[in-house]
Amino acid sequence: VVDERPDPSPTKPAASAVTISNRDRMIFPESKVTKGDLADYYQHVAGIMLPWTGHRPVSLVRCPQGRSRACFFQKHDAGSFGEAVHQVPIREKDGSTENYLWIDDPDGLVTCVQMGSIEFHGWGARIEAVEKPDRMIFDLDPDEGLGFAETKKAAEHLKEQLAELGLTSFPLLSGGKGVHVVVPLTPQAEWPAVKDFASRFAQALAQAEPERFVATMAKAKRKGRIFIDWLRNQRGATAIMPYSARAREGAPVAAPVSWTELRDLDTAARWSVTDGDALIARAASRALKGWGVADQVLPDL
Ligand code: ATP
Ligand code: MN
Ligand code: MN
Repeated sequence: VVDERPDPSPTKPAASAVTISNRDRMIFPESKVTKGDLADYYQHVAGIMLPWTGHRPVSLVRCPQGRSRACFFQKHDAGSFGEAVHQVPIREKDGSTENYLWIDDPDGLVTCVQMGSIEFHGWGARIEAVEKPDRMIFDLDPDEGLGFAETKKAAEHLKEQLAELGLTSFPLLSGGKGVHVVVPLTPQAEWPAVKDFASRFAQALAQAEPERFVATMAKAKRKGRIFIDWLRNQRGATAIMPYSARAREGAPVAAPVSWTELRDLDTAARWSVTDGDALIARAASRALKGWGVADQVLPDL
């Protein structure tokens, strides 16, 4: 008799059809997280990860020998990942065309892990309209020495300034040091307009509080300040995807949070790949209801 009751152990992900070689390979030696564990994590969180990550050109941080060995950032591929990882041709700056990767199901995520991937970074546009961003993002990068408290306050400040312009935003813990302030957009304006808006918004904040914020790349100017990285908003730039693991110590993941929750957090690496159950439960919580969803376009600035 086949037992058709649901699996009583919520930690056990549904089996993937994708074969993982070297399941026991240590990807995060300090946390004893193996390639198999990482594949299981992505299989498990696929349902909450794919609504944002699916149908979007993605770049991968691949570390085939684990996070402490050589890693590389992969943007293009001509088909070596097999059928679960799709391709979308996109015009490059130089006029040539490259095949970018995109996925739309758990097998796609797990196949990337089989290929040695740890991190998933995504464009700010969907494959159906690569020229029209569906989000703007401000990546807050605190100078070394600044604590998470300053980063949180900065994120809150951006939220308020965006709200004054009529824009709803959501915080994403990067899993590293910072917070990303995510502004969902109805795909309408094209890259140059979104980049221009992001640039002017960031410059205005830095001009108003030069002791606190900086909006230029130059490292020298960052001393004791928070860099508002608005350059994630140019065509071809990527940002870490919600629920992606990070190739950093402790196997942290990027995690959506609410503005209220953010106030009580003391690190951007609060959750890790061992927290799949908690992340899934959180995603269904009242606090995260509607995270990343807002039907809005950029006002004139
Ligand atoms: P943290 O909070 O620690 O800053 P982060 O994800 O914001 O984490 P950053 O270094 O600020 O990390 O952001 C780097 C951004 O640049 C990422 O969003 C990523 O998508 C992109 N990126 C990373 N590596 C490369 C690369 N080799 N080439 C192009 N873009 C990259
Ligand atoms: Mn950052
Ligand atoms: Mn950055």
